[in-house]
Amino acid sequence: MSLDFGPAVALSCRECGARYDLGPNFACLECFGPLEVAYSFGSVSRADIEAGPANIWRYRSLLPVPVDVAGKQNMNPGWTKLVQATNLGKVLGLRDLYVKDDSGNPTHSFKDRVVAIAVEAARNFGFHTLSCSSTGNLAGAVTAAAARAGFEACVFIPADLEQAKIAMARVFGGKLVGIQGTYDEVNRFCSELIGDPLGDKWGFVNVNLRPYYAEGSKTLAYEIAEQLGWRLPDQIVIPVASGSQLTKIDKGFKELIALGLVEDTPYKIFGAQALGCSPVSTAFKAGHDVVQPVKPDTIAKSLAIGNPADGPYVLDIARRTGGAVEDVTDAEVVSAIKLLASTEGVFAETAGGVTVGVLKKLVETGQLDPALTTVVLNTGDGLKTLDAIADDATPTAVIRPSLDAFRAAV
Ligand SMILES: *Cc1c(COP(=O)(O)O)cnc(C)c1O
Ligand SMILES: [Zn+2]
Repeated sequence: MSLDFGPAVALSCRECGARYDLGPNFACLECFGPLEVAYSFGSVSRADIEAGPANIWRYRSLLPVPVDVAGKQNMNPGWTKLVQATNLGKVLGLRDLYVKDDSGNPTHSFKDRVVAIAVEAARNFGFHTLSCSSTGNLAGAVTAAAARAGFEACVFIPADLEQAKIAMARVFGGKLVGIQGTYDEVNRFCSELIGDPLGDKWGFVNVNLRPYYAEGSKTLAYEIAEQLGWRLPDQIVIPVASGSQLTKIDKGFKELIALGLVEDTPYKIFGAQALGCSPVSTAFKAGHDVVQPVKPDTIAKSLAIGNPADGPYVLDIARRTGGAVEDVTDAEVVSAIKLLASTEGVFAETAGGVTVGVLKKLVETGQLDPALTTVVLNTGDGLKTLDAIADDATPTAVIRPSLDAFRAAV
């Protein structure tokens, strides 16, 4: 079997730099550090990219995927809207604010990006089943992608997830297994399953395919830069669950600079967590390099990872770029969802409430410069977390169909 990973040439250890052949491996045999995809990029021009399709495959020459990936059965996510948020900016006192709205992906969360890359790796390795441990959105993205690409699917979630996320994961077929425990326990279970004959030929998108999966998040960085007219934002607010997305957005910005696709301008990266699951912001504020695991208790279930694998790298990046990692309460998450919806017409899931809530807090505490170009991510669709705004899920008034009744009510 010959592998086709496009410009990717190896896996390399993020800690010690040891290199490995491209394979379904995720941890360094020398030091147990996480493995990352290493590339040998050819020359890439803005014009080549702009001539590509309106999805993540316009960046295929920067991703570990076959050259002909755009022609394969795939969900083709990405190229979501960068919404100029003038109204929200006015309310918050920010002069140049944008919302990167990833609810516009095929299964209504950013996870379609990472899964699309993992699917190509699973094809390369001859796997027959796609699997994952999920806080909700990933399960739906995996089962949908499996349906389209012709894989079996078996995905694992904490049993107490939002009904919409359970339904989204089931409707595409495959098996959905609820585990009685937290996400971190689901993830540990999946690691055991990989070592068992039961899990043979299974591609766990965020475990044994994690190096490939993670690269999908770089496309957010590429899109934001291209949509800003090929320049980097000055400040960006990113939600943190495992921390993978944040670290790869940084990697994406660095690649664009190295390839000469954007000017080398400074950018600050801010991480956002819900207070009920804030191991990274806690470590950031305490000045620690290690992240102490917590047991999550928050309505932002998509971000409820108590032991984030990339937590230490998030701390490094926030500190290196002059950003920060902040947190907000569940009440602040709910009001931020409503604020974003009522100013910009964007209905965010709780993760988007976390980023917008943190954005507000960063402005109020002077950690963010209101004059600079700022991007805040909304990574999922509010329809998936309706419980969060259940108090508002009633009409303003219920009346008889008469003008008198209406006059009296308003
Ligand atoms: C998975 C997810 C994230 C980011 O997760 P990381 O593990 O930090 O990469 C952000 N928002 C939503 C809605 C998600 O589902
Ligand atoms: Zn190593």
